[in-house]
Amino acid sequence: MSEYGKETLCIQGGWQPKNGEPRVLPIFQSTTFKYESSEQMAKLFDLEDTGYFYSRLQNPTSDAVADKICKLEGGIAAMLTSSGQAANYYAIFNICEAGDHLVVSSTIYGGSHNLITVTMKKMGIQCTVVDPNASEEELHKAFRNNTKLVFAETIANPALVVLDIEKFSKVAHEHQVPLIIDNTFATPINCNPFRFGADIVTHSTTKYMDGHGISIGGAIVDSGNFDWSLYPDKYPGLCQKDESYHGIIYTEKFGKAAYITKATVQLMRDLGSCISPQNAFLLNVGLETLHLRMQRHCENAQRVAEYLENHPSVAWVNHPGLKSSPYYELSKKYLPNGSCGVVSFGLKSGREGAAKVMDRFSLISIVTHVADARTSVLHPASHTHRQMSDEQLKEAGVAADLIRLSVGIEGIEDILQDLENALK
Ligand code: PLP
Repeated sequence: MSEYGKETLCIQGGWQPKNGEPRVLPIFQSTTFKYESSEQMAKLFDLEDTGYFYSRLQNPTSDAVADKICKLEGGIAAMLTSSGQAANYYAIFNICEAGDHLVVSSTIYGGSHNLITVTMKKMGIQCTVVDPNASEEELHKAFRNNTKLVFAETIANPALVVLDIEKFSKVAHEHQVPLIIDNTFATPINCNPFRFGADIVTHSTTKYMDGHGISIGGAIVDSGNFDWSLYPDKYPGLCQKDESYHGIIYTEKFGKAAYITKATVQLMRDLGSCISPQNAFLLNVGLETLHLRMQRHCENAQRVAEYLENHPSVAWVNHPGLKSSPYYELSKKYLPNGSCGVVSFGLKSGREGAAKVMDRFSLISIVTHVADARTSVLHPASHTHRQMSDEQLKEAGVAADLIRLSVGIEGIEDILQDLENALK
């Protein structure tokens, strides 16, 4: 299946029905699964055999969708989680514990920023925040002996900074740690971070993958490229005995799939942020049109960005597809088919003007969400990023007047008309 193009994988990847089985991925709406012998069940609990036994750990509907995402990203294994937050939390916590440290890009999504700099700090995990535009030399300075990973986003939400993934992966690998990339905004249609050296990819599937604003979810995909077994002291959770599974060693027993297996059988077992089969099903329906929607999102966003750039009331516009974007060159390299549907801009009337114009849209609605089929708008300094100080906002690349416009897939003329009416 993975030899097919992405368009085919979006539709046919994952669920492969056998003779007489439903053509469309069914919702396995069952918490549990039946076995005929006690021994069979025992083997599952000992990880001696594969099979479903409880939907908190694995469910056939969720697994089929994880498999589709895995193929789209070109990974070797993937899992779904209840949200993008859970995906990022598990992706990090799977290899980081109290006393460890990580390096994180300053421009990541506000929720991930809070997770890493506030909540994980309380769990004893320290971090160093780096500028995504930092030179290699500057990045090297952020590492410590106890650094376990580097975390960044392909296209930062909402700053729209395009990451130089190769630079980040090179530096991470020189320090013998993996690079985890949140690929939510680009989606695997527009970028496969593994091709540029990333080791683990995460998604908030709530965004473009679902695409219709109907189900919260997340995904973690493993490239299988990072050899944890070379660093047994650095990654004891993967390379040393797990007493909660009678002393198995994930790297020895599961090889390249060690990371996802541990996240599934240990973190999902203990922390339980699983996606529901119903939401996995909805996500799969969204994925079937991801390739078509991404193309339209990108085309519409480009038109909107160019329109705004020429509007007399607009002070600045940021979209990686604009020649004026500082990330234009990077986006040509990493996102040659388009970046995403998000455009940010500021008005000459500043923060006050931003607040005013928000109330004047008619087709475009104010929602917290991005990456939806419907065009939506948000003022991050008043909404998603409101917990941040002015200093943190600046670091995150979020100006106080920044309006985040998530351009949908409606008719472009209608979107432009609504903007025109609001900006008048
Ligand atoms: N990562 C990125 C880039 C996001 O934009 C978001 C949410 O906006 C998340 C993670 C968190 O995802 P979720 O809302 O599904 O928990």
